[in-house]
Amino acid sequence: MPSDCLFCKIIAREIPAEIVYEDDGTLAFLDIHPINPGHTLIIPKRHSDSFAVTPPEDVAAVMRAAQTLSPAILKAVGADAFNFTANNGRAAGQLVFHTHFHFMPRFAADGYKMWHGPEGDHHLSDVAAKIRAALA
Ligand code: 5GP
Ligand code: ZN
Repeated sequence: MPSDCLFCKIIAREIPAEIVYEDDGTLAFLDIHPINPGHTLIIPKRHSDSFAVTPPEDVAAVMRAAQTLSPAILKAVGADAFNFTANNGRAAGQLVFHTHFHFMPRFAADGYKMWHGPEGDHHLSDVAAKIRAALA
């Protein structure tokens, strides 16, 4: 574990957090700056810097934990919808470089907006071709 990793310190109980769930591979705790009540961070216990370099078994453990937690969080805060996402890289808003997924309960009147791309020519076939080539 990197000695300066905030979330590793939460796992090690060196920094306090409102932990709501734990199993062998994952920990879940409330985000200190929630966008809504119940905003929870779900993380693998094994350190990785971000989603793209996280071992698939750790990703799977986080997904399992999210499915276990989902009904409990929604019941606790009276929500019936949520966003579940990971910010990857600084340009995407990642501030803590220990892989984490945000589980964010949503309410119809909470005012948050989703992204909507602008109209226009997005060169979809060119972009798709580049992605397929990069996979080859
Ligand atoms: P990111 O922007 O990296 O996807 O999200 C990091 C999240 O960690 C932020 O939503 C931020 O509020 C949360 N966070 C930062 N420091 C702490 C902390 O010390 N404790 C807890 N519980 N959450 C934190
Ligand atoms: Zn870490």
